Amino acid sequence: MSISQENKNKLKSLLGEDRVFFKDEPQMDQATFLSFGTDRTKVYVPDYEILTFPKNTQEVSEIVKFAFENDIKIVPSGGRTGYAGGAVAKSGEIVISLSKMDQVLDFDPFFGSLTVQAGMITKNLHKEAEERGFYFPVDFAATGSSHIGGNIATNAGGVRVVHYGLIRQWVLGLKVVTGTGEILEFNGEILKNNTGYDLKHLFIGSEGTLGIITECTLKLTKKPVDNRILFTAVPDFPSILELFKETHNMSLPILAFEFLTKYCLDKVIDHLHVPDPFSEVSPYYVLMEFEIAEESDDEKLFSFLETILEKGYVSDGSLAQNSRQAETFWKYREGISESISIDYTVHKNDISLPLRNMNPFLEDMQALLSSKYPGFEVALFGHIGDGNLHLNIVKPKDLSDAEFFSQCKKVDPSMFELLQKHHGSISAEHGIGLLKKDFLHFSRSSAEIEVMRLIKKALDPKNLLNPGKILP
Ligand SMILES: Cc1cc2nc3c(=O)[nH]c(=O)nc-3n(C[C@H](O)[C@H](O)[C@H](O)COP(=O)(O)OP(=O)(O)OC[C@H]3O[C@@H](n4cnc5c(N)ncnc54)[C@H](O)[C@@H]3O)c2cc1C
Repeated sequence: MSISQENKNKLKSLLGEDRVFFKDEPQMDQATFLSFGTDRTKVYVPDYEILTFPKNTQEVSEIVKFAFENDIKIVPSGGRTGYAGGAVAKSGEIVISLSKMDQVLDFDPFFGSLTVQAGMITKNLHKEAEERGFYFPVDFAATGSSHIGGNIATNAGGVRVVHYGLIRQWVLGLKVVTGTGEILEFNGEILKNNTGYDLKHLFIGSEGTLGIITECTLKLTKKPVDNRILFTAVPDFPSILELFKETHNMSLPILAFEFLTKYCLDKVIDHLHVPDPFSEVSPYYVLMEFEIAEESDDEKLFSFLETILEKGYVSDGSLAQNSRQAETFWKYREGISESISIDYTVHKNDISLPLRNMNPFLEDMQALLSSKYPGFEVALFGHIGDGNLHLNIVKPKDLSDAEFFSQCKKVDPSMFELLQKHHGSISAEHGIGLLKKDFLHFSRSSAEIEVMRLIKKALDPKNLLNPGKILP
């Protein structure tokens, strides 16, 4: 598809020459242009026509109206850290990058809420909240690049869901532009509003298929007074779950409960050139973060450590002595994605299960892999306290990339059948995007998928917003 000169002029007069770029006009180097039509999946080749950088909701609405009149598909683009292909533009689309929409719009010191444009980088939002004496708790390894709008569009989770929940719990209000260019505003900044359907929730986790989020009002909380990191070696998988159960008997709030295998720890040690923090080898490790409010809380933590050692749930454990050591401990967990994706070819899966079904699922999964794919190694880690496993299959050296991915495609449906059997979900927090849309039926019934289609039709009648994502 080529864009007529008249249409190019229309967009240029709307946004100015420096905020709209065309595939066939080399105002920007090709690699940078294409990078706005992709994410971290690295599976799809971007190929799109127009890149736009609106500065406010009205401009987003004008761009969508332009696309609507000219039947051009639209891809909303955030920080492009997604793992599901949701921000991939590969079919002549117009990409709407929110990256120039990063302003604070309002602050309510009474409730503690912040209204910002959706393109604000998540870490900057953390800073803005802290400067006002508050705390925004959604955090994970990509928040230095992800946008708050992208986080809402994927209903992001992260490392502290076990205490604070998913981002859905923190969204008070949204402003969105629908597939016709209409601007809708939901709820504003109020806490209580039982006036019919709470429509903002439709947009949270909708991966840009129902509307473009342009502004959001987020609830803030108080920062934990202090915290402590406990890094432990665990002798077997069932002990991880027992250990989690044991944290319920503590009076200290648990902020994070993350696990990794020896395989993952070794990959981080190799990639980041850091020492092994444990003197003895163990198959599993659990990193826990606790909130500490007063000195006596440290005693509670030591007595917890004694109990879990006595009960045999852990074989070794270290309590970070200072914030520097705490940061180092976190690196062993947060460095895993980077260590395995840069040094190896991996097929990622982000799944969730009820905790009590974790062990039987993993036994079934192990049996499946060893009978059908004996050469595959698995990097297993994740937010285990939330029932969330990152199950990454690592390519054996002697297999070509093409052969590896084709074999993984065959493993996926068998794994999703096992997930169904154990009441799990095929996507815990990364979303469906392009990557998992053919498998949506493993987690959603055909009646549910039909309702999703009807909702999409009502908000995006020409199917222009991120078409082909989520829905098969
Ligand atoms: C190292 C690493 C660790 C990660 N850890 C986690 C984790 O712990 N938990 C977790 O949940 N995720 C994690 N992710 C995945 C990813 O960071 C999240 O999905 C994040 O929320 C995506 O935000 P983004 O701004 O990068 O969105 P993008 O990748 O740009 O887009 C994601 C989807 O949202 C849509 N979108 C983006 N902005 C908007 C908008 N303003 N309006 C409407 N639609 C929009 C896009 O079209 C796309 O469908 C991780 C990623 C990396 C690279």
